Amino acid sequence: MGLGKDFRLPLDARPVRYAAHLAPDLEAGTFEGRLELEMRLTKPRRELTLHALELDVEKARVRAGGKSVRAGRIEPDAESETVTLHFDEEVPAGQAVVDLAWRAKFSPGLRGLYRAGPVAVTQFEAADARRVFPCFDEPAFKARWSLQLLQIPRGAAAISNGRVAKDDPGEDGRRTIAFTETPPLSSYLIALVVGDLSASDPAMVRGVPVRTWCVPPKRHLTGFAQECASAVLPLLEDYFGQPYAYGKLDQVAVPDFEAGAMENAGAITFREVALLLDPKTAPLNVQKRVAEVITHELAHQWFGNLVTMAWWDDLWLNEAFATWMAYKIVDVWRPRWRVWMDFEVGKGAALHLDSLKSSHAIRAEVKNAQEAGESFDAITYEKGGAILRMIESYLGEERFRDGIRSYMRKHREANATADDLWGALAESSEQPILELANAWIRQVGYPLLWVGERDGKLVLRQRRFFADPEAREEGPPTRWPVPIVFRFRDEKGLHEHRELLRSETAEVSLPAKQPAWVLANAGARGFYRVSYEPRLLRALIQGLPHLSGEERLNLVSDRWALVRAGDAQVDGFLRLLEGVSRQETDHSVLDEVVSRLSFIEYRGVSDADRPALHSWIRRLFAPAGSELGWDPRDGEDDDRRLRRAAVLRALALVARDPQSVETAQERFRGLVAPQAQPVDPNLLDVVVAAAARTADPARFAELRRRAEEELDPAAKRRFLHALAMVEHPELVPEAVQLSLSDAVRMQDFPSYMGTLLGNRAARELAWSLIQERWADVRKKADSPMLLRRLVEALGALTERRHLQEVEAFLAAHPIEGARQAIAQTRERLRMDVALRERLVPEVGAFLRA
Ligand SMILES: [Zn+2]
Repeated sequence: MGLGKDFRLPLDARPVRYAAHLAPDLEAGTFEGRLELEMRLTKPRRELTLHALELDVEKARVRAGGKSVRAGRIEPDAESETVTLHFDEEVPAGQAVVDLAWRAKFSPGLRGLYRAGPVAVTQFEAADARRVFPCFDEPAFKARWSLQLLQIPRGAAAISNGRVAKDDPGEDGRRTIAFTETPPLSSYLIALVVGDLSASDPAMVRGVPVRTWCVPPKRHLTGFAQECASAVLPLLEDYFGQPYAYGKLDQVAVPDFEAGAMENAGAITFREVALLLDPKTAPLNVQKRVAEVITHELAHQWFGNLVTMAWWDDLWLNEAFATWMAYKIVDVWRPRWRVWMDFEVGKGAALHLDSLKSSHAIRAEVKNAQEAGESFDAITYEKGGAILRMIESYLGEERFRDGIRSYMRKHREANATADDLWGALAESSEQPILELANAWIRQVGYPLLWVGERDGKLVLRQRRFFADPEAREEGPPTRWPVPIVFRFRDEKGLHEHRELLRSETAEVSLPAKQPAWVLANAGARGFYRVSYEPRLLRALIQGLPHLSGEERLNLVSDRWALVRAGDAQVDGFLRLLEGVSRQETDHSVLDEVVSRLSFIEYRGVSDADRPALHSWIRRLFAPAGSELGWDPRDGEDDDRRLRRAAVLRALALVARDPQSVETAQERFRGLVAPQAQPVDPNLLDVVVAAAARTADPARFAELRRRAEEELDPAAKRRFLHALAMVEHPELVPEAVQLSLSDAVRMQDFPSYMGTLLGNRAARELAWSLIQERWADVRKKADSPMLLRRLVEALGALTERRHLQEVEAFLAAHPIEGARQAIAQTRERLRMDVALRERLVPEVGAFLRA
């Protein structure tokens, strides 16, 4: 009888200190381990169960109560991912030390201890420390870790959570490296990295040495990461009112990495593209993204590492906080970047995911580590972050921060739950926020707020919003306490007014007679969508220039959601885009408009009507295109450069304007010429994509060479994905086949495949490859997160026939650990296929009118 997948360790045995040696053989891909595990037992026991997966535990003894007892039987259990040590005699309560020895292999995917190019690296969250150490692999078991690496070759770098305390060359040139003991940490935060890496010079930040590591040829790309970490670390210390706890900070760029980054205490690992960049050629969006990831991981050093969730059901406590905090701190560091606008884009994705029937609550039951893994999605990150922002906005910034500080003080080096946080916030703010917070954290979805007008008062109504026009709530309707901030304009100017909507409907009297317009989500802080009665909507559109960028972006996003849900007509929406694109100067809002147009061009128009849509879009953007041109003026600011990027994306990529496509190709030729002519970095995505679509075999070879040779990770990624955008009939099969070759690393496989599936010329062939070579495809996405991304990429398919094929395929090929991704992708695809059938005639009629 096994313990079952949902097995959790009992609480009467707790780890205090792990003293472990690991001897990796990088050539053979194997390792040996030894561990002295100091524990406290609250009652006597004959056996001890630890997590262990694919570890060959050879020897185990326990020392307790003055004697040493052998484990005569060592029983691994694959389903519960444990090993049970059956001791020959009873072990008394009190302090006990278990001695263990084991052997194992490196993991084949991107979890446990694995090889990434010239580096061996660990990735443990959520529950893969058990692939390297027998341990208490649940977040509630925090302990000190004292680690050593043995048999390390000369010249190899070695990084872990602690500082290098000893580096002993040994007699045979094989080094022993000991790291300083850590403060109490959960197992998922432990890291080891060994291999051919070099580091930037350390920066001293309030006494903490900060370094950025990468493979040696990329060392010149570490400057930005150093600058950013050095700037934000003090800002975080000041916000939390607690010093950084881990003594030193290493940021490590790993050549093949599953997630974006991992917040291991003091030894943060990243995808190369999320850490390294060349400031001369990096577009602003790449710089912002790197800064955001670095800050997110640093925020975790407090939220997650210092105070840790007790169990995975509160994973959002880690991720929502780090998400929100990253924007907050980067906004302080670089206010002119206006990163909250980017937050809006992420929030839009979360609003869409959360409008599916198959969405989930931010805080939901998690039975095991596999289910925990499924929670790393836009609900946990972006929705969670948006809810915190909404609550902060409701309580006020200072009271919110005071609550966080007291929560940090109270639970440092320990574990906490959501209710501990709400308790601290309620105390600091003297507001009853438990009910408000729990409604948003524990209920699935969010409200659509309908706003009308009667007898000079506003009439409000809420219901759960579904993206699917057919979807209805089963059971009693969900209600949210909705903190609403109205903004309105009357003859005296702009005003705000706050209301907490508690019931299904309410009437609100604004302190104004005859406002010119009323907005029901000021600053776009609320996590809900708004539908206005026609007269109010018309007034609001008249007032567009008075709204903030966030508010205009949010209005476009809400209107589009209502079109999808069948609550608004597409022609009204297209007319709104027409108006916005003509007068809009904010590049983020323009980008949102271009993204919606791109969706409609891809999915909402027949082949016959597409040329008419192209000319319509061209007419919208041509004036801005000729005003902005392709080249920045001397001293031009970022806003204008980014506006140009949005406009040229619309012209060259969405409208396929022949002249813009021709210029893009010219710029590409200049870019790759021996005497390279630089292109404004913000235009690189447009230039390379347009060149890829029109590529002939020679250009394809050039793109391939660049994808292989580029050192700058963002440039490399851009060229790699460009290969998946080709349209030339002779090149498409090659681009599709390339996905399974070594040219595409495991970490890039789902996004490369997604690009192929989103390419009208490559879609069928890519989909056939997935179906026909499923065994190879699975091996290429050998990790649960990558498999989920691959499943999600199938959402790019368009036709009813595809939907049927995907349904049949997923039914015949079950994927463990992707339950939610599969349900969400099926629902999304069903909806988008139906949406396409609805949009095609409506968009066609609009274009002919
Ligand atoms: Zn995170």
